[in-house]
Amino acid sequence: MKTEKRKIAIVGAGIGGLTAAASLLRLGFTVEVYEQAEQFAPIGAGIQLTANAMQALGGLGLIEPLRSKGFVPAAFHSREWDTAKVTNVLVMGKSLEERYGTPDLMIHRARLHAVLAALTPCKCIHFSKKLIGIEHNGSGVTALAFADGSRAEAALVIGADGIHSMVREALFGADEPRFTGRVAYRATYPTERIRGLAIDERAKWWGPDRHVVHYFTTPNKDEIYFIAVTPEPNFRVESWSMVGDKNMLRAAFAGFHPIVRTILSAAPEIRKWALVERDPMPSWWENSIVLLGDACHPMAPYMAQGAATAIEDAVILARCLEHVGCDDISKALAVYTASRKPRTDRMQLTNRENTWLRERTDTEWVYEYDAWRARLALPESSPT
Ligand code: FAD
Repeated sequence: MKTEKRKIAIVGAGIGGLTAAASLLRLGFTVEVYEQAEQFAPIGAGIQLTANAMQALGGLGLIEPLRSKGFVPAAFHSREWDTAKVTNVLVMGKSLEERYGTPDLMIHRARLHAVLAALTPCKCIHFSKKLIGIEHNGSGVTALAFADGSRAEAALVIGADGIHSMVREALFGADEPRFTGRVAYRATYPTERIRGLAIDERAKWWGPDRHVVHYFTTPNKDEIYFIAVTPEPNFRVESWSMVGDKNMLRAAFAGFHPIVRTILSAAPEIRKWALVERDPMPSWWENSIVLLGDACHPMAPYMAQGAATAIEDAVILARCLEHVGCDDISKALAVYTASRKPRTDRMQLTNRENTWLRERTDTEWVYEYDAWRARLALPESSPT
């Protein structure tokens, strides 16, 4: 194994960027993270960390820190939107933990983000660094330019800058993700607001063209989260913090079962965002610049794999760099892409059907994957 390790720049301190930083630091690399925000703010709502995400995070020692801040449901229920008839049950809790060695955990994105951020020393995270330009100079160094006029250099740049990735645009040209014609209303609020209503610990209610997912996000179930997805083809604004109109939400789900309507109307405030996606991209890298997470495979939240796949990418990329070494970055990035793309391509295409778990589903190919142990797509002669 080659051991030369040079400076790696990560653009974006979101879920993927912070997982990449923690994984690379763990394997002995030097990283600098550049984030456009002035500071971390508790934005966002619920995220489902399925067993594959938790196995990757487990390799960073995060199972217990996350368990202490998230919720482990005993089961997931799929229900018909109006009758509440159960169409599928996925047993989770202890039996799932015995199978995969990790729980399947629901958590607020801000708490996941804080747990991840604690793994990277503050001096390695640079705030107010909005990337506006990136250039590979042909001699193995990539120059980064930021909106505040500052610059930086690195031997490898990882674009973990999310759905509107500037790094992606610099590599492959401007090309906005496609609006699915659907929006998501979501809220997190104290469970006491549903006044003791008996609800599933994690459920999805399936309507003909819309659905609602809800689950608890804290160990003692005192916080509940929902996401309600419905067609709104004329809506375009895309923001994680835009306030949604409660009357529009109520109207869109007026025919749903009373349990769903109670959960939706109990929210003190709702947020709204447009769901966008891309087709699988032919390539994720060029020279010594590479993408991960939403920057290269954004998905609508139907299979709950957006954060999970960004986390998996980060671990596999770190392993490829460790295995191949930073003195052959092209090879490391080729191995990374070959190791990851078949899985994320399949995920993007399966995700857009929005049928995952509606009926009995083969979940094994998604949940069993352990990014720390998964086989790297190395050429025949190189052992993993
Ligand atoms: P992200 O987690 O989106 O991270 C991208 C990071 O890059 C962000 O910190 C962003 O500020 C930074 N960035 C972008 N452009 C630049 C630039 N030019 N220069 C420097 N930095 C840049 N998913 C859910 O399922 N539920 C949620 O509630 C939810 N809330 C979210 C809230 C926020 C504020 C964000 C940014 C994302 C949220 N997501 C949520 C999306 C989810 O986190 C991602 O889909 C998933 O984790 C993939 O992670 P990622 O690292 O690829 O991208």
